Amino acid sequence: GQCSLYCPSGAITEIDHTENLEVVMKTKKKLVIVGIAPSCRISLAEIFKLTPGSLTTGQCVHLLKLLGFNRIFDVQFTADLTIMEEGTELLHRIKDPNSILPMFTSCCPAWVNMVEKQYPNIIPHLSSCRSPQQMFGSVIKNYYAKRVNVDPKDIFCVTVMPCTAKKKELLRDQFRNPETGLKDVDLALTVREIGRMVAKRGIEFSELEEREFDNPLGFSTGSAQLFAGSGGVMEAAVRSAYWLKFGENFPALVYNAVRGLKGIKEAVLDFDGKQLRLAAVSGGKNIHKFLETWGTSAFNYDFIEIMACPGGCIGGGGQPRSNLDIVPIRIKSVYQREQKMKARSSHDNPYVKKLYQEWLKKPYGEKAMMYLHTTYAPFKFKSSLQKEKQKHGDINKG
Ligand code: SF4
Repeated sequence: GQCSLYCPSGAITEIDHTENLEVVMKTKKKLVIVGIAPSCRISLAEIFKLTPGSLTTGQCVHLLKLLGFNRIFDVQFTADLTIMEEGTELLHRIKDPNSILPMFTSCCPAWVNMVEKQYPNIIPHLSSCRSPQQMFGSVIKNYYAKRVNVDPKDIFCVTVMPCTAKKKELLRDQFRNPETGLKDVDLALTVREIGRMVAKRGIEFSELEEREFDNPLGFSTGSAQLFAGSGGVMEAAVRSAYWLKFGENFPALVYNAVRGLKGIKEAVLDFDGKQLRLAAVSGGKNIHKFLETWGTSAFNYDFIEIMACPGGCIGGGGQPRSNLDIVPIRIKSVYQREQKMKARSSHDNPYVKKLYQEWLKKPYGEKAMMYLHTTYAPFKFKSSLQKEKQKHGDINKG
């Protein structure tokens, strides 16, 4: 994940997993499922040298079909699910005087790595929610597999992601089935990798017609689209936490205080007679700066969104161009798209509601905790002696 932090172009570690996917596709033994992340439908246009956002979502779906995926689903569906869980978790934390605040978001794996390595005291403050990518894998292997009567071992679950940190996230032990050892998500591809596949196959922009996502993981709301940019998770969570608490919609649908590309954004929200102090921070340097007062009384926030890349995932290291001037154009497109979506708030996603009815029962409930939440642990640094021993294969003897 560090590459996207310190090398926004991702050029230092240009990993390519497209061959791994081609091998699985060729054998035709597995149902190959793909899910596309919120920011990637914006940047996919750039692989055809077009302005960000100029491919419609329907054209992105068609592109993925042409690449040979058997089912095309939307990671925005599980972004909506993340908000239902995270909004509920926030309410629990606010209500319980003994619970730990502030709560930090946990959907950016580069940020989670940073906490585990450099700020272990923050671990209890991280939301226990899995990221949309990991909720996607879990829903596919634990729910969808049963629904379509396919053994999870015969499913190959792929995601299209903005960064290489997502490749490492899916390898965490917490995201394997405890009985079978199967990973929930098998492979994450960056938009750059998708670009290489498209070039190899010679797919042209003019071939792309509109296609629809498969169901039931194909519907999403404007809130899920907002995940693409810094402040988006915060805005989405505020919309739904408000609804979960008061049973009505947040008065202003657009929450400007957390929009835009500023590295550190702050807001105060009147919430049930309490002033909720919010912050949305993006970019490595800004994060360290923001955390300078951590542990002192000056640090008095309640809910904080952190994204490792400048501007959030639209500035991710796996996106097509390294030129950061493109980020403002991408964020504009995110806001335009979100405005046009049929449903704007995660709690209005009918398929998410159905998922709770049929399977999870209720947000933050027992089943949701099992399938949609996770744990963190301080990173264990190896001493140089340990590393040396490991290199020689005798780590267990010492
Ligand atoms: Fe990846 Fe988004 Fe985090 Fe950047 S901000 S490391 S793109 S998850």
